Amino acid sequence: MLDIIRARLLQGYRTHPFPKEPPTLPEDFRGLPLLEGGCPGTCRSCIDVCPTGALSKDDGELVLDMGLCLFCGACARACARGKIAFSRDYRLARRRREDLLVRPGPARPLFETQGPSPFRHSLHLRQVSAGGCNACEADCNVLGTLTFDMERFGIFFSASPRHADGLLVTGPVTANMALALRKAYDALPRPRLVIAAGSCAVSGGLYAGHDETLRGAPSLLPVDCYIPGCPPSPWTLLDGLLRLMGGPVRNGAEG
Ligand code: SF4
Repeated sequence: MLDIIRARLLQGYRTHPFPKEPPTLPEDFRGLPLLEGGCPGTCRSCIDVCPTGALSKDDGELVLDMGLCLFCGACARACARGKIAFSRDYRLARRRREDLLVRPGPARPLFETQGPSPFRHSLHLRQVSAGGCNACEADCNVLGTLTFDMERFGIFFSASPRHADGLLVTGPVTANMALALRKAYDALPRPRLVIAAGSCAVSGGLYAGHDETLRGAPSLLPVDCYIPGCPPSPWTLLDGLLRLMGGPVRNGAEG
């Protein structure tokens, strides 16, 4: 028993002080994409290597859809002119699908709550894996560990949608899961939220266009918060959830 107490004292308080301090990100972390204008009109080297069709050209300028992007970095490696880079900005959650489109120039606004949120003090979520590969689910799971400790912010995963404020959807929504997802949504009390977490849930991701999948949660439900990534970093998830609740992140380190 004394050994346990000694070990506990030596370990100290292990929970990260986020959001008062910025998160500790891995060295190879890829966050908000940064695009430079002035691409030669005929060059398609980045577009051709993208596995999900996240890159396109609009009026000659590159557009990167974070909702489809896997953050694999292949486009940045393929561009000989260095027009694509990935910053270390983990704050990728957005309120509207169109705000996930990145173009050369200033970034789209961060997610902001409009007026006081009824979920400011607590947010109970039912997680629905609608055909996910378990990567997004694992990063949601890790939010309950001592480093992230989402419960200190009043965020909890709920066993039943009847006891939840919203759904946190992962996966592209397979045909087999569509009815279950719809039923889970219908069981939520009002007001209710839907969060699409990960490129599959945002857009269908790698599986967009497959006969047996829909194009993510928006094909079936109204989405209140889009969190891109494949999978999203736990910090990106936590930042998005706190923004959805309104407040805690804005009081902390905005970088
Ligand atoms: S990082 Fe995103 S946009 Fe670039 S190649 Fe990979 S999936 Fe496509």
